[in-house]
Amino acid sequence: MDHFSLVDGQLFAEQVPLARIAEEVGTPVYVYSRATLERHADVFREGLAGVARKHLAFAVKSNPNLAVLKVLAGRGYGADVVSGGELDRALAAGIAAQDIVFSGVGKTEAEMRHALSLDIGQFNIESEEECQMLAAVAASMGLTARASLRINPDVDAGTHAKISTGKADNKFGVGLHVGPGIYQRLSALPGIALRGVAVHIGSQLLSLDPLEAAFGKIGELVAHLRSEGHVITHVDLGGGLGVPYQAATEPPSPADYGALVARVTRDWDATIQFEPGRVIAGNAGVLLTRVIRVKPGIRDPFVVVDAAMNDLARPALYDAWHDFEAVHPDGTRMMANIVGPVCESGDTFAMGRDIDTVSAGDLAIFRTAGAYGATMASSYNSRGIVAEVLVDGDRYAVVANRISPAEIMAAETVPAWL
Ligand SMILES: *Cc1c(COP(=O)(O)O)cnc(C)c1O
Repeated sequence: MDHFSLVDGQLFAEQVPLARIAEEVGTPVYVYSRATLERHADVFREGLAGVARKHLAFAVKSNPNLAVLKVLAGRGYGADVVSGGELDRALAAGIAAQDIVFSGVGKTEAEMRHALSLDIGQFNIESEEECQMLAAVAASMGLTARASLRINPDVDAGTHAKISTGKADNKFGVGLHVGPGIYQRLSALPGIALRGVAVHIGSQLLSLDPLEAAFGKIGELVAHLRSEGHVITHVDLGGGLGVPYQAATEPPSPADYGALVARVTRDWDATIQFEPGRVIAGNAGVLLTRVIRVKPGIRDPFVVVDAAMNDLARPALYDAWHDFEAVHPDGTRMMANIVGPVCESGDTFAMGRDIDTVSAGDLAIFRTAGAYGATMASSYNSRGIVAEVLVDGDRYAVVANRISPAEIMAAETVPAWL
């Protein structure tokens, strides 16, 4: 459920007409709904009511906007970060260092040092080599890093190849069969306190089966590690729950997911950690855009909008679907291709789509753009970096200024010798 809906023939974000935001802030612009973010955060937590000890960390990479992070911090969420930059954002948004989990295959020594000096909650380490570096850095600082070993359970998440992370040939984690040996060697290192295992098999999962398969393997590994004398207090089950980009798609509900987790982890006697991203932020945001013109095509016309692949990369990257709706629909429909102005054929949001009739100057939205949207924006084609707005009831604020092409150009210099 979200708070973007038609009232008296026009689309609102909560109680704010989207047309007003377009008028005052310009387009393209991402619009987030605080009520939707909070609702999703609460529904996800309620789904896990059957899990006795848990920790929720929002996957910052899905939407790192400071205001969004602050909203989720207010709902008791920590942060799952994958870079020093995300770590600093989480802290700036008021998330306690203890509630931060640092994931990712390429943590640098400088990032480790920074995170250790802040005493973050946990490092999820993805290789023996990484752990050796972390242990050495921590020991040199006279500290001990709390860490979990990320396992690659070799299950097919059944999602898009570019967002699958749990197959043996993906770069993430270490294989199940080598896990115990690595765990044994690492637990002997000074500077590190290994306390558990982590798993994250991919994103936009539309079935619980791969998760159940992965969690089952993790449960067996936990039992095995304990039988070898290791103390396992934490198990991180990652994120990955899908969202309905199209009405016909029915992802598992947080309640179904929570029931599975409660059942599978009942005897684990550990704190279960979660790293949801998309399921919290996806439907809490839309990309508001204006139609520049409608150009005839061979079959269907091209609706050229002022948002492009540099603002919302998912269709170009993952062939992703985003529902397109007019802000002032007149009740009629048209068949159209929806494209942006960028000079790439990949800058296509939809081909042969049945949409609300729109014409030049009309406003429209791409739905489900709150996750993996603004955060992937670039200035390709010397376009600006898209602005972001957060709505709260009948008020809104710009939570990320548009960065103009002139500001981007100002960061460049031409050497005097040219
Ligand atoms: C991307 C990612 C997540 C979040 O995935 P969602 O599908 O957005 O829930 C969680 N954990 C890790 C390690 C990730 O890389």
